[in-house]
Amino acid sequence: MPKTRLQLFSLVAIVSFVSLLDTGVVSAQGWPEYTSPDGNPFDRGPGFYISWWKLLCCIPFFFFWVKAADWVNADIQRNRETTKMELDSWNPAVVFSFLGGFIALLCLPIFWIGFPIYAIASILPYFLYLRARNPLLPKATRMIFPIHPDPLKQPAKVVLKQDEGLQLEFKAGGENSQRSQANLIAARQNPFFLQVKESLYDIMFKRAERVQLDYTQQAVAVRYEVDGVWINMPPRDRQTGDAILYAYKQLANLNPMDRQNRQEGSFEVASGKTKSKFELTSAGIQTGERVVLKVTELKKKSAMNIMQLGMLPDMYAQLQANLNRSGMVIISSLPSGGLSSSWLGALDAADRVTRDFVGVCDKDFQDKVIENVSFVEFDKAAGQTPLAETKNLALKLPDAYVIPEMVDADTVNYLCDQIEKEKAFAITQIHAKSSVEAVVRTLMLNGDRSKLAKSLNCVLFHKLFRRLCDQCKQAVQPPPQLLQQLGIEPTPQTMFYQQYQPPPPETLVDEKGRPIAPPPPCRTCGGIGFYGRIAVFELLEINDKVRQAMVNTPTLKDIGAAAQITGHKTVQQNAINLLVAGVTSLQELQRVVNQ
Ligand SMILES: [Zn+2]
Repeated sequence: MPKTRLQLFSLVAIVSFVSLLDTGVVSAQGWPEYTSPDGNPFDRGPGFYISWWKLLCCIPFFFFWVKAADWVNADIQRNRETTKMELDSWNPAVVFSFLGGFIALLCLPIFWIGFPIYAIASILPYFLYLRARNPLLPKATRMIFPIHPDPLKQPAKVVLKQDEGLQLEFKAGGENSQRSQANLIAARQNPFFLQVKESLYDIMFKRAERVQLDYTQQAVAVRYEVDGVWINMPPRDRQTGDAILYAYKQLANLNPMDRQNRQEGSFEVASGKTKSKFELTSAGIQTGERVVLKVTELKKKSAMNIMQLGMLPDMYAQLQANLNRSGMVIISSLPSGGLSSSWLGALDAADRVTRDFVGVCDKDFQDKVIENVSFVEFDKAAGQTPLAETKNLALKLPDAYVIPEMVDADTVNYLCDQIEKEKAFAITQIHAKSSVEAVVRTLMLNGDRSKLAKSLNCVLFHKLFRRLCDQCKQAVQPPPQLLQQLGIEPTPQTMFYQQYQPPPPETLVDEKGRPIAPPPPCRTCGGIGFYGRIAVFELLEINDKVRQAMVNTPTLKDIGAAAQITGHKTVQQNAINLLVAGVTSLQELQRVVNQ
């Protein structure tokens, strides 16, 4: 549209300028006497009878009008959102006013009457436009003359399309730095690079550990795993989803065209101080293609002490006592339930300075960098057990054995013997659903039951609960019978909290019933409602009752019953404190307890 208007202006401008030269308006007053020398009546004489000063009077107004008309046209379009001024009324006003003035100039035989009409007609609409427009706009953008430098048209810093939006730093995958650089350049050519950046930022902002993208014929289903829980995110349309995946694959040094074969690659993204590694796996499946991004924040994780993980001081003292005397301690959690953290936390609480620690672990075991503990490795995949290496180390008469996996009955029995004869200490770990189950699973290694029952000091078990986001959690009044059921003494202040619930759509209207935008997502948790996790521990002390059950009736039910009679508190019971403290929600408690 602006183009056609400009053409119209130019046409009017050229026609009027030519007419200006060709008519009598600015010609000299009257035609000079002239007779053709050869008597030809059509001989018009030498021509060019122009009054230069009249022409000079008209030209500045003409150029002013050309510039002003062009500017008004552009200005209305630029500020249309704010000023609501109509292009269709102002453009004709500017053009036809000038035309009218010009016709007056042509038709009125007296220059000093025609000329002022022409002059006013060429500049008046512009100033009328300014009068209407300036009050509607911020002071900085107010104008008087179109020849002023337009503040909005100042030469802007050159911003490439890919540099717009979020500021993210990329390190693309590649065999060498040139390849990595080429991959990044290729990805930045993507017309959807803005969306690529936004998608990666969203993943980092919401602290997703894994992202799953399912490409089907119609759409892309998106899921984030945040704090161990899979959350459905809004799906993407295929076009954007495809373009984003294309760039992901370029960044990860993969073939973006291949949507069938299994591919694996990685790239890094930094946003401010946060730097994350994205490991991408893609493969064709029956319904289309599945892509999984594993996200790891690249920062040195300082090992948290076990109290920071969520252990209360009383239990800590109890655990420490068990860690610093002869006997065996088992550390346990659900698979992928943060066993590594509580394992390192427990070892941290043990006295490794005055005692001599030795360790035997599988060669693939991850957590073998522990201060004051040197590990010897064995190969479990090749059918080896820690026994041979443990016997070797026993020659040095160590105070404590760190055996992450005991593997077989012989190792269990040997360690129990060392505990009994040498007053040694041993610590091990096992995946289970509760501390009682950890005992049963250890018994299932088929070592000597009475030896193990005698050696075992305690089992530490924990489960992870998502913490409610403090910025957006909402208080709810718990029903009295629920409090009673949970064994909570109700007070007027007793409140539970729940994760942020967005307002229902029917309430998202203004006073006139028009729909309004929903509130923006929480800046802390990105709208997930939870931020981070807390461990709730249970510590099963092996007392005589439990010992008896371990030897005589080594079942989940009987050992559990023996523990309960003697005052053992489970994770479930301990977690109720988190509800009252507003750390987590009832729904989260139920979710974790049912795991
Ligand atoms: Zn929040």
